[in-house]
Amino acid sequence: MNTFHRSISTPITSSAAFYYEDSQEAEDIFSGNCANPLYSRMGNPTSSVLEQQLSTMENGVGAVATSSGMGAITMVLMSLCSSDDEIVAIGGLFGGTYAFMTQTLPRFGIKTKFLSVDDLDTIESSITTKTKVIFCESVGNPSLRLPDLEAIGKIATKHNIAFIVDNTVTPVIVKPFEYGADIVIYSTTKIISGNSSALGGIAIFKEVKEHDKFHTSRYEFLTPFINKLKGKALIGCSKKRSLRDFGMSANAHSSYQTLLGLETLDLRNNRINTSCEIVAKVLKSEGLNVNHPSLNDNIDKDLYDRNFSEGTGSMITIDMGTQEKAYKFLDASKLLTITANIGDSRTLGLHMGSTIYQDFTSQEKEFLGITDGLIRLSIGLEKPQDIIDDLLNCFEASK
Ligand SMILES: *Cc1c(COP(=O)(O)O)cnc(C)c1O
Repeated sequence: MNTFHRSISTPITSSAAFYYEDSQEAEDIFSGNCANPLYSRMGNPTSSVLEQQLSTMENGVGAVATSSGMGAITMVLMSLCSSDDEIVAIGGLFGGTYAFMTQTLPRFGIKTKFLSVDDLDTIESSITTKTKVIFCESVGNPSLRLPDLEAIGKIATKHNIAFIVDNTVTPVIVKPFEYGADIVIYSTTKIISGNSSALGGIAIFKEVKEHDKFHTSRYEFLTPFINKLKGKALIGCSKKRSLRDFGMSANAHSSYQTLLGLETLDLRNNRINTSCEIVAKVLKSEGLNVNHPSLNDNIDKDLYDRNFSEGTGSMITIDMGTQEKAYKFLDASKLLTITANIGDSRTLGLHMGSTIYQDFTSQEKEFLGITDGLIRLSIGLEKPQDIIDDLLNCFEASK
């Protein structure tokens, strides 16, 4: 409960710095013995309300809010990996994450091995003494392939490797900690904010337990954090080995807008996921080449029924065969917003190959499931019938 002016809505603490009561308090804040704010790069009171709420939602020990989803991924990977270390990434990844792992991390000597969700057998043989992280997304974007999180989590536990899940598209629906994940990442920019009003990200951490994987020699650098912070060691590690120096910190205004979105997340999630199933089914019956894991002939339908019965988030893809037809389809719409975002209250659409994946090689596109005619839709809060009517008009116009 906020006591500040008895406000019910979270106050926006738009302050870069904070005063300390006296010199002793200053020392205590810097040593971590006093939880009052130090300086906004290291944490902001408005952002910390968001951190608490999302950590509670996920059953974590705490969280660190960041300036964007990429900020959260960068913070966590840069805090756990050093030069010469390796990451095992499973499944089709968000374009920004893929570019980070193929173009930027190698400049710092960090190598990523990419496996498909069907390569479960090769995960174990891909792990070496240098592997620090197994990384995957709860739903491939835009491949919509589903990873067997339970199986991957078991491998990560068996080999004592940190398991990170980017759960951006399935908050509430998928609980990565229950599958053995150690860190859950969100781009809150998407369905958590829900209306394209704020860029943001967050990393939520599981409690470090006595004698668990983080006590092994692989994670020797964590020892000082464990000694000092016990179960909250991963939070300290992210802040001191990354956030402090890279400065991908969340700002109070964005955190406030994200908190507003969070209030209605569950309702919007239900509506959007229900609409996705309806829209996918009708479009398919009308002859469109639709991909959604809820469809009966989908390759991941079993996993969908087992782990994703409430949905796989707002994405549906349509393969129009050619770029020309995809453009005609999109440009005929009276309802779609053509944009690179997902998880918005409005229905969004984008041709993949000519935008996000423009600079990717044909091999990379193949690995990520990007075909020439691929359109990604993110279903919004409109009436499902209105969405269907518009998309069927687009289909007619594309012929
Ligand atoms: C958008 C997205 C990101 C990156 O988030 P930003 O807030 O745009 O930096 C990361 N992962 C997934 C799955 C995303 O959809």
